[in-house]
Amino acid sequence: MLILFAFSFRSILSGSEEPKDASFSTFANEVASGKVKEYRTTGDSIEYILKDGTKKITRKDSGISVIESLRIRFEGDKDALQEISQVKERNEDPDKYSFLISILNYLPVVLIVVMMIMFFYGQSGKGGGASGALTFGLSKPRLFGGNKTKVSFNDVAGVDEALEEVSEIVDFLKHPKKYTEIGAEIPRGVILVGPPGTGKTLLAKAIAGEANVPFFSISGSEFVEMFVGVGASRVRDLFSKAKRLSPCIVFIDEIDAIGKKRGVGVNGSHDEREQTLNQILVEMDGFDTNSGVIVIAATNRADVLDEALIRPGRFDRRIMVDLPDLGGREKILNIYVKNKPFEEKIDIHKIATRTPGFSGADLKNLMNEAAIFAAREGKNKIRQKDIEEAIEKIALGPAKKSATIVQEERKIIAYHEAGHAIIGHILGTTDKVQKITIVPRGRSLGSTWISPVEENHLISTEKFKNDIAGLLGGLTAEKIIFGDYTTGASNDLSVATKKARAMVMRFGMSKKIGLVSLERDDYGFNEFSDKTSEEVDNEVRKIIEDASVIAEKVLTENKDILENLSKKLLEVETIDYEEFILFFEKKIRKNLRKTKDDKKN
Ligand code: ADP
Ligand code: MG
Ligand code: ZN
Repeated sequence: MLILFAFSFRSILSGSEEPKDASFSTFANEVASGKVKEYRTTGDSIEYILKDGTKKITRKDSGISVIESLRIRFEGDKDALQEISQVKERNEDPDKYSFLISILNYLPVVLIVVMMIMFFYGQSGKGGGASGALTFGLSKPRLFGGNKTKVSFNDVAGVDEALEEVSEIVDFLKHPKKYTEIGAEIPRGVILVGPPGTGKTLLAKAIAGEANVPFFSISGSEFVEMFVGVGASRVRDLFSKAKRLSPCIVFIDEIDAIGKKRGVGVNGSHDEREQTLNQILVEMDGFDTNSGVIVIAATNRADVLDEALIRPGRFDRRIMVDLPDLGGREKILNIYVKNKPFEEKIDIHKIATRTPGFSGADLKNLMNEAAIFAAREGKNKIRQKDIEEAIEKIALGPAKKSATIVQEERKIIAYHEAGHAIIGHILGTTDKVQKITIVPRGRSLGSTWISPVEENHLISTEKFKNDIAGLLGGLTAEKIIFGDYTTGASNDLSVATKKARAMVMRFGMSKKIGLVSLERDDYGFNEFSDKTSEEVDNEVRKIIEDASVIAEKVLTENKDILENLSKKLLEVETIDYEEFILFFEKKIRKNLRKTKDDKKN
């Protein structure tokens, strides 16, 4: 079949009528004036079809692509460049046909190799494996495009912080001079980190779309299936192509599949992974910072990445792409209701409220499921009911545990986080509550970010005690409101205990133990008596108990804020500093009014 195919190939290509010969400049002029419908290159020869159906053939210089030589020829001529960008290149691999022909020469060898591969695959899998290996040998999988994408920032919603950070990259790509002229180095690598389905791939495409630059992409997981050496050469190909078309974006999806800490894997694909990874590093080090190629990688597991990848000069910018909060979900839903017919006005807010923990991809899928529900019932328009049914289906599905955080649990989490935040604000005089959220992230169900206003290196006894009280704030809030507390505080307790222990053993912050440092010797044995050890335990316990009393006092005094803040959290899911501080200002104003009234009376 191969032989037959290869022999009849030329005639298939050219069809019935023979193409006319033309010079390259004729071709160029025809492209520039918009007459050319599409072209195809085989080695250095170009076959092309005019819009009126005429077929022609011409040759180009070797070592330069068609587009490139056209661009050079018409540099500065806007109309011509426009036409050039519109002419279609048939997306066939230029090397494929000549490769096929040359196979004839090597046929015996190729056949033997193919048989060996078939034999090899035949043992582990069935015919499927063999055919996979075959197609791999004959035509390159389309790992990268280099096409422009039409995705824009309007297509990505609910990840405002990430958008803000990446808009800087768009500016780098659009106006590189602005930065290079004052000696700023444009970042080479950016890594997008976030749970699956939050729009990392989409965001990368949107960056390319916004900057109007070519977009090359490969996926880490594809390399894992390849043979040794292929991944590395593919990376080389990719980068050399990208460099020619710069400014552009090279996107490496699922980089954790190749960028795992080295020495973790033990199987055969490990070698391949390492070579591919090394090649990426070599390429990234190789091009100078102003070449205009920006490499964007995506992963949902930043913790497993090799150190070498994230060191400065490589993927040193990290952008978090988190699960959307309530407002974000509304925005995403708004995107996906746009092109669907609805029978009634859809209550987007209600849907968003019912879908905590859903990613952008989940929400898109939700609207799709709703349409399927409606269609199954013979409707031609979607109803609110269909969407709600779809939520249940998705939320009950095995894959979507986080979405099943029931209302009661959300309530507990809201009070818990509000507790941390209030104590952090009131006792932490040098700290600022940056953000409180009940959107689940990784293993935590909610989080409160408290960070010092200024970096401090020395921690006083007072600060230690307040921090521990803050850590107990979650559990204490639960206790005050619900009369009991949950396992959600286990990490808080572990951190609090470590701090208390450090106070006693390392910093001399307990009167009873005194100004001594209690250490272990080289063999891990205590360099202090068992009696002291027992006293340490008691002191640790006492510090935590004291902190717990303080936490309870602060939260009881501010129970109104605790209630209001938690309610707001349940409603909007994320509260930042500006909104948070309002709760306290309101209270201060109310108290002022009260004292004035009291005076009047
Ligand atoms: P990731 O790469 O983070 O796993 P993708 O970018 O592949 O996620 O998302 C899959 C699809 O889900 C996208 O193509 C898009 O249709 C939808 N989607 C995900 N996140 C968003 C978002 N923030 N805004 C709009 N659509 C989104
Ligand atoms: Mg992706
Ligand atoms: Zn907590």
